[in-house]
Amino acid sequence: VSKNTGVLVSTTTSEIPDGGESVVINLDHGDPTMYERFWRQKGEEMTVVTSGWQHISYFSDVKNVCWFLEPQLVSAVKRLHKVVGNAITEGRHVVVGTGSSQLYQAALFALSPPDAPQPMNVVSAAPFYSLALHFHREDNIEFVSIDDRLLEIRATQMGGDANEFNKDEPYIELVTSPNNPDGTTKQAVGKGDKGILIHDLAYYWPQYTPIITAADYDIMLFTVSKSTGHAGTRIGWALVKDREVAKKMTTFIEINTIGVSKDSQLRAAKILQAVSDSCDRANQKEAAESFFDYSYKHMAERWKKLREAVNKTQLFSLPSFSTETCSFSGRTFGQLPAFAWLKCEGEAVDCESFLRKHKIYTRGGKHFGASTEYTRISMLSRDSEFKLFTERLPAIMS
Ligand code: PMP
Repeated sequence: VSKNTGVLVSTTTSEIPDGGESVVINLDHGDPTMYERFWRQKGEEMTVVTSGWQHISYFSDVKNVCWFLEPQLVSAVKRLHKVVGNAITEGRHVVVGTGSSQLYQAALFALSPPDAPQPMNVVSAAPFYSLALHFHREDNIEFVSIDDRLLEIRATQMGGDANEFNKDEPYIELVTSPNNPDGTTKQAVGKGDKGILIHDLAYYWPQYTPIITAADYDIMLFTVSKSTGHAGTRIGWALVKDREVAKKMTTFIEINTIGVSKDSQLRAAKILQAVSDSCDRANQKEAAESFFDYSYKHMAERWKKLREAVNKTQLFSLPSFSTETCSFSGRTFGQLPAFAWLKCEGEAVDCESFLRKHKIYTRGGKHFGASTEYTRISMLSRDSEFKLFTERLPAIMS
């Protein structure tokens, strides 16, 4: 427990004074530390060693549209999508980013024409993932001009809830599926035929949702942050159908950060290959548990515990999800979202503030274009913090 903030930073409950009552439980961010234990068990097997002379050049593969993309990462990405069956990679360009957050911006840059008479609207159906829209919420975004081309991104503005957008003009729709914050499966909702779509599939992995089909969209974004839990590695990838769009996204990253850390790309490649290997071994019925078996069981257990905790009170409710059969695991289950979209029952309760009074930090509905009766709670914390949370929640009386 941090002396300065009272926030829980340790990993064992035995270190917590007074059973944890005085401790702040911070479930505001979706920091995916719950997977740490799986990777810890792997021990030295996952260690990456880099010599002083390695990865010095800016360039990775000058023949590729994305010239700073490491070939090993491409192989690892393609193999994993094939193993899981969650996205089509054939005939796609892979663009790597510093997290998928950078790829969001790169895609907006690539899709908004520099010479448009007015800013292009960027919409998403509420409740929507807020970080992606952060830069575009105001019309008057100022970017430091390192290069004239960077100013072109100003040609976008936040167009609001896609359900309500009905202007007869081009727009970009962000489709996050499964959705952050509420875990639902989403389809594009924008009316009219002038929408260009960006699909954020950060959570389209078998620990969160049954895999139904291999996604086949024009621009699909993924990240190691949510698939394997390596948020600190800061690697995301885009699967892009159109070569020109992939080229423009690459240009954005070139202007922005002159590429993406090679050390991180190679670490991400090693991690993704290890996940694929673990699935292969599990298929061969060896004793080893695959990463997705481990993470699915862990998520399913957490959701069970959370629902039990919520059912002990009259104060809160959670969304329910219908079950489907996952083509990857063969299991039939309902969504196990990375975030719980908790509703405070009763007259106009501000759920975020209410929980904050009980030292549980969450992110309220207003951050996602939704009502303050809702709040988003990370399900990805370490076990000790999650346990404290499920103990404290039913103890809140009113
Ligand atoms: N998309 C969604 C839906 C997310 O929830 C997040 C992380 N919270 C991201 C993208 C960004 O992930 P990163 O930049 O860590 O790859």
